[in-house]
Amino acid sequence: MATLSIDPRVSGRTADFVATDHRMLIDGRFVTAASGKTFPVYNPAAGEVLTYVPEAETEDVNRAVAAARRAFDEGPWPRMSPSERGRTLWQIADLIEKNLEEFAELESLDNGKPFKVARVADVPLTVDMFRYMAGWATKISGKTLPLSAGNDFHSYTLREPIGVVAQIIPWNFPLLMAAWKLAPALACGCTIILKLAEQTPLSGLRLAQVLDEAGLPPGVVNVLTGFGEGAGAPLAAHEQVDKVAFTGSTEVGKLIVQAATGNLKKVTLELGGKSPALVFPDARIDAAIRGTASAIFFNHGQCCCAGSRLYIHEKVFDEVVEGVSHVAEDIKLAPGLDPSCQMGPLVSDEQYRKVVGYIESGITDGAKVAAGGPASGVERGYFVRPTVLTNTNPRMKVVQEEIFGPVVCAIPFSDKELDAIVKRANDTLYGLAASVWTQNLSLAHKMSRAIRAGTVWVNCHNVFDASLPFGGYKQSGWGREMGEEVLNNYLETKAVTIAL
Ligand code: NAP
Ligand code: MG
Repeated sequence: MATLSIDPRVSGRTADFVATDHRMLIDGRFVTAASGKTFPVYNPAAGEVLTYVPEAETEDVNRAVAAARRAFDEGPWPRMSPSERGRTLWQIADLIEKNLEEFAELESLDNGKPFKVARVADVPLTVDMFRYMAGWATKISGKTLPLSAGNDFHSYTLREPIGVVAQIIPWNFPLLMAAWKLAPALACGCTIILKLAEQTPLSGLRLAQVLDEAGLPPGVVNVLTGFGEGAGAPLAAHEQVDKVAFTGSTEVGKLIVQAATGNLKKVTLELGGKSPALVFPDARIDAAIRGTASAIFFNHGQCCCAGSRLYIHEKVFDEVVEGVSHVAEDIKLAPGLDPSCQMGPLVSDEQYRKVVGYIESGITDGAKVAAGGPASGVERGYFVRPTVLTNTNPRMKVVQEEIFGPVVCAIPFSDKELDAIVKRANDTLYGLAASVWTQNLSLAHKMSRAIRAGTVWVNCHNVFDASLPFGGYKQSGWGREMGEEVLNNYLETKAVTIAL
């Protein structure tokens, strides 16, 4: 094994946790992989191994699914009173909040994001998600229905948990993505097998301890660490799983759909995006510059809803490009735990190479670099400079494909193209999100209707709340996360009719 290295800035508790002999949670017990295999977890700010975690494979998946099946078919969780389930969710939220600093340190260390950001965004939003869903536990209900078939019937619907749920999550918001998945499924009374992303398993393993401490019965949540092919694929295909909820790439989303055909398990998908931000000449330009820069640079562009296509009216094009470029040039790159950090490294060597490859392909195809570029100037770690490209055309890969890094294409439009701009904004296989920057109320509403995406922000971008449904049109996914809508992902509807 390589020597483990840990950032000296983390607290003793975090350092101790990172150095522990990591175990997965299966059936209420903390266990190694059946094979005994482990794999390394990297610190992306240094490119060094932080620790090792168990490598789950088919046998571990089978054990976790059997535990979740038992917990669903025979255990107390789906049969518990809604208020008790709600209390447990609230308790999970309290425990995460109590350990907020530790979770933020783990997230920063493992994913690379600034500690300051994890502390005010990832962890509090996670806490909020559990509290919001704790409230829903007692409010899930059916309806009574008048039948045209006649007056001699009493009919009503029951909303029942869908059953055993497999949840597969990515590395961009490791803890928050776990919460988006776990909290609603638990509120509905489901039992779960959660597979963490191979790049970022640490906060999820710490969360497994919190779930145990909160008193979840054995098998209700099982947490696996492993690779997509070795653990994710057998989980998605498993005959005893009733539902799979996936967040990640559109490419793997399609594999999940295929894997689900064996037993026709239900599927929801939260996939990629190539989200447009549209700046009109009447926008408050300062706010549009700050907002559209943050739309792409937040979380180093590793957001499925990143505003990666920036359409700017020609009257304000130079001013906005210059402004966003200034923001980009001023961003301080540093390890996430460095107090001066404004942007950390990308999550992995693979993402680093991919994103730099996109910047280079843009340049080769004729794009101009207004800020940033392929060289980061940082010696160690997977750092990429926030980059602004101009002079692109709609056929370039950088304009068409999801880069998942801090790279934005700034594209001008003219008055003559006002109608066509919606078409251009919609001209992608994705439909996750968009933002519109204008003070014209009527234009804002018209654009919100015309854009084919699950979220439209006006004069803001990346505003998330547990109450707001989030998800994609077109190839950005199936179903919605968060809000009341997410409950549909984890419930079946049963119609009961009684002849009176
Ligand atoms: P990914 O491959 O789609 O991974 C997402 C999750 O699916 C991970 O837990 C992954 O396991 C698992 N997985 C991979 N192959 C699988 C399979 N055949 N069956 C079941 N599960 C499988 O995404 P990625 O490789 O981490 O990133 C690639 C690209 O996906 C990014 O560049 C970005 O474009 C996109 N992405 C989108 C989102 C989003 O929020 N929409 C998030 C992350 C990435 P491993 O951890 O072992 O890979
Ligand atoms: Mg992967």
